[in-house]
Amino acid sequence: MDFALSAEQQQIRDMVSEFVDEEVVPVADEIDHTDEFPRDLVDEMAELGLMGMPFPEEYGGAGLDYHSYAIGLEEISRGSGGLGTVVAAHTSLAGNMLYEFGDESQKETYLTPLAEGSDIGAFALSEAGAGSDVPAMETTAEKDGDEYVINGGKLWISNGSVAETVTVFAKTDPEAGNKGISSFVVRPEEDDGFIVENTEEKLGDKGCPTAELRFDDLRVPEDRLLGAEGDGFVQALKTLNGGRITIAARGVGIARAAFEEAREYATEREQFGQPIGEFQSIKHKLADMDTKIQAARMLMHNAADKKIRGENYIKDAAQAKLYASEISREVANEGIQIHGGYGYTKDFAAERFYRDAKLNEIYEGTSEVLRNTIGEQLLEG
Ligand SMILES: Cc1cc2nc3c(=O)[nH]c(=O)nc-3n(C[C@H](O)[C@H](O)[C@H](O)COP(=O)(O)OP(=O)(O)OC[C@H]3O[C@@H](n4cnc5c(N)ncnc54)[C@H](O)[C@@H]3O)c2cc1C
Repeated sequence: MDFALSAEQQQIRDMVSEFVDEEVVPVADEIDHTDEFPRDLVDEMAELGLMGMPFPEEYGGAGLDYHSYAIGLEEISRGSGGLGTVVAAHTSLAGNMLYEFGDESQKETYLTPLAEGSDIGAFALSEAGAGSDVPAMETTAEKDGDEYVINGGKLWISNGSVAETVTVFAKTDPEAGNKGISSFVVRPEEDDGFIVENTEEKLGDKGCPTAELRFDDLRVPEDRLLGAEGDGFVQALKTLNGGRITIAARGVGIARAAFEEAREYATEREQFGQPIGEFQSIKHKLADMDTKIQAARMLMHNAADKKIRGENYIKDAAQAKLYASEISREVANEGIQIHGGYGYTKDFAAERFYRDAKLNEIYEGTSEVLRNTIGEQLLEG
């Protein structure tokens, strides 16, 4: 395996990094404080091609490989964890559903505006009673002539209240368990019966609206079905697999932000007549933080590598996401510790990194569920 970034990948990293330093970092605290969807930043990212990084240029994307996409998402998340979720849910989840499972006409009509960033995407799988247990979903889609009528509700949908395109999972055959789930393209502005019930007040991940949605006799034409009836569960699993690589990138990005801030603080803060970074215990903390970040990034690229090669990467993506999620929380925790009392206040971003990092252990497969996945893959040989 070649660990060096190509010239193009370095260029992507430098371009996104510069954008993040100039445009995202200066407003990250404000986003955290107001919890408003940063539409202006999203528009700027669209102009730079950052809302459709992995999709081919023919569909309005930037045509980047999955390593580059992960690198871009690491940088964006270094600036703002909420913005990282906005881009990941839009691209890895909603956009990917269309790219992988949409027909040519669906790609042209719905993927292109997503990849160009003129539309925002959301992926609506989870429900109040169906988070880890996806087949327990109760939303239904009943065929009526040449339409489907969708009824039910979804919970915790990232971008759900601002999206122009939502990929919605519903049961077309409620008796068939996971084989009865199908997916649909829903257009909130065009489709009557799409209701945003609420947006959550969250611990972190601010700026990315997390919505509770209700579908009340929502009618979609039959050409909004993605793939065939009954394909939805497998589509969701495949999509979440790729998504996990980018949630690993979000973890690495937040961990880096926490580490970089703590390292700077350790050189500035003096106690007992010397910078606290001179104390061995602080040096060791920094050493452990950086080591974990490097290891998580390698797992992320390993999973991306297998995905690009077309190999089975279920275990690799789960490991990358699991490890990067846990170390980002650990690194952010040590970041607060290095700041002492200041770390526990809003005077420094250390506490924001901690709140943003925690989410990684919950969405797109909890750490417990990912350990199940990894264990099953190991035993399957
Ligand atoms: C901010 C945020 C954004 C989100 N964005 C989206 C989105 O865009 N789209 C979307 O569809 N969903 C989204 N989700 C939902 C998210 O994917 C679910 O919350 C997650 O899958 C866990 O489901 P749950 O909350 O129902 O927890 P539960 O499944 O009820 O789990 C509760 C606890 O039980 C454990 N557990 C459950 N099953 C098992 C098992 N088999 N073995 C061991 N332990 C188990 C879990 O690990 C957890 O610790 C989001 C959630 C949040 C908080």
